[in-house]
Amino acid sequence: MENKRFDTLKVHAGYRSADHNNAVSVPIYQTTAFSLGDSYRADKLFAFEDEDPIYTRLSNPTVDVLEQRVSALHGASGAIALASGMAAVSYALLNAAGKGGRILTTARLYGGTVDSFDQIFEEFAIGVDIVEDADDLAEFEAKIRPDTKAIFVETLTNPYGTIPDLEALAALAHKYGLVFITDNTVATPYLLNPIEYGCDVVVYSATKALTGHGNVIAGIVVESGKFDYAAGKHPQFEKPLWFLRDAAGDKRSILDIFPDIPFTGRLRAIHLNYLGAALSPFDAYLVLLGLETLSERVSKQVSNARIIRKFLENNEHVAWLRHPETADSPYATLAAKYFPKGAGALVSFGFKGTEEERRRFLAATEVFGYQANIGDARSLIINPAQTTHVELTPHHRELAELTDDTIRLSLGLEDPEDLISDLKQAFEKAYAIS
Ligand SMILES: *Cc1c(COP(=O)(O)O)cnc(C)c1O
Repeated sequence: MENKRFDTLKVHAGYRSADHNNAVSVPIYQTTAFSLGDSYRADKLFAFEDEDPIYTRLSNPTVDVLEQRVSALHGASGAIALASGMAAVSYALLNAAGKGGRILTTARLYGGTVDSFDQIFEEFAIGVDIVEDADDLAEFEAKIRPDTKAIFVETLTNPYGTIPDLEALAALAHKYGLVFITDNTVATPYLLNPIEYGCDVVVYSATKALTGHGNVIAGIVVESGKFDYAAGKHPQFEKPLWFLRDAAGDKRSILDIFPDIPFTGRLRAIHLNYLGAALSPFDAYLVLLGLETLSERVSKQVSNARIIRKFLENNEHVAWLRHPETADSPYATLAAKYFPKGAGALVSFGFKGTEEERRRFLAATEVFGYQANIGDARSLIINPAQTTHVELTPHHRELAELTDDTIRLSLGLEDPEDLISDLKQAFEKAYAIS
């Protein structure tokens, strides 16, 4: 599958039917363990000299196809699939930080990610520094400390669709020897490949548009293969370890064993191995199935988002509308640069009215589903300040500029005329009694 383009890779990469009894659809290897054969083969498997699967927590042929496919979609050196997007985010940040390291980030993050810094990273003695003005490169630079190990941002944020200048942040990270990690969940690899702009590690909640059918919880971490983990800033990759010893009993480092995939290799050998958030083969199969239509789904969702945005832009019930593609958005230039195919399928607006009217509006939609998810084939509506982002402290809420009146739409695949009619009738019902 070399030299093939995105839409070809998304249905073919990482799989040859001839290697799987000529099965055309990727088989689900629903097995815990794999026969070790003879004890000589077992020696090789356990010394990392043979890559065949041993035990499904560590690797599995169905999951492996997904990892290779997503890696190919990014032109990356490797990927690792995990049981959730939260596992992908937390494992990637723990891996980069190492012992006592710090992560530099912003408050414009998934609510669970922000709260995990206080609830988990603090217990692990990993410091997190938050840049208050996420558009200010100078503040990022000023907050880099000697023990900072990585910069982490979301490429297209939820709910407001702000966009960081990825190339500038990659240059800054690399100037200080830091790993540049992005969460590309909202964008999906169809709209943006962060590796093309210097990103070293990309994480996904595959639960969202990557799979796109609202039927799975899954996460993926992808690595570019270009970052130099031997430069001294990340000693966890260079340290010789007993459990990685060779047949002669000599200790080896992560870099010795996984020279092309040190980041995901270490995630597999340590985080997946011992923290254990393994993706099940059946769920990997569902993600693969969703991936086959990624471009078709996301382009239709972007088109629906544009139609709905235009409807809301001239609407008397809308106090404000934030989307990177509106002419007056401060992110219009970055959107044109990084998102030529469209800046995603989320549209957020301020509901004009009382809290009671807002509650009635949320209760009145019939096509839009009221639920905590995004990127589904079905259109969704939610009030993020009171639900998905409820964990944010008042300070983090202020930094994320999250307001109580925010309504977030995640556009699905329905007919846009039905979506507009649904919003119209919901607005009518919201104000009917007052
Ligand atoms: C949903 C989401 C996550 C968490 O993913 P899960 O699959 O729900 O664990 C992380 N980052 C972003 C941007 C998300 O939208």
